[in-house]
Amino acid sequence: MTRAYTRPMPPQHLWEPGLGFARAAHLEEFVRAEFLTRGGLFFDAEHGHLSGASVGFLWASSAHVDKGSTKAGIAQLIRQGEPRKWTVAARAVWLQGMFGPALPTFLITLSAPVWARYDDRQAFALVDHELCHCAVAKDEYGAPRFSDGTGQPVWCTRPHDHEGFVGTVDRWGAGAAGAAPLVSAALRAPRFAWVPGSHLDVYKACGT
Ligand SMILES: [Zn+2]
Repeated sequence: MTRAYTRPMPPQHLWEPGLGFARAAHLEEFVRAEFLTRGGLFFDAEHGHLSGASVGFLWASSAHVDKGSTKAGIAQLIRQGEPRKWTVAARAVWLQGMFGPALPTFLITLSAPVWARYDDRQAFALVDHELCHCAVAKDEYGAPRFSDGTGQPVWCTRPHDHEGFVGTVDRWGAGAAGAAPLVSAALRAPRFAWVPGSHLDVYKACGT
């Protein structure tokens, strides 16, 4: 299913590298409607649990460098409740300046200069990837965990599904590298192949 859409863009003063941050309110609305709501252009059941979470987005004009490479986005869980460290409290105050007193469950920060030069396909692949990091904690049997106190899901960030060596797959097969689900997904045509743009190595772009 396709229909016209307009990709939200950061304010232009953040397109050049600097020290600015801004709430990406348009992008939040777009992601809620198109990624997290059934019937949205990029909805996938994998993100269905996030209908009960709030996901805040920030644009950043400064670089986020990790292990020598500049990243395009990161996803973080915002700790709720009374801060017990000044650094945490200071960050909460800073975030409240942008989001108001109720902070989002998850915060996804995106590089505005990188987003501005990405095409749609790269940008949406990045958003989808960062949403994959926003998860519900599982118990030892793999069932979603809920808080005893509030009954709400216990939120967590989830690591990448796969980290491995191409050489292991080459010499011993995808199963030996724990990459069989990844390989079988890769053999199917991407669902969102209709989105114009080029391929993004999202694992390199992600700093989570
Ligand atoms: Zn990632």
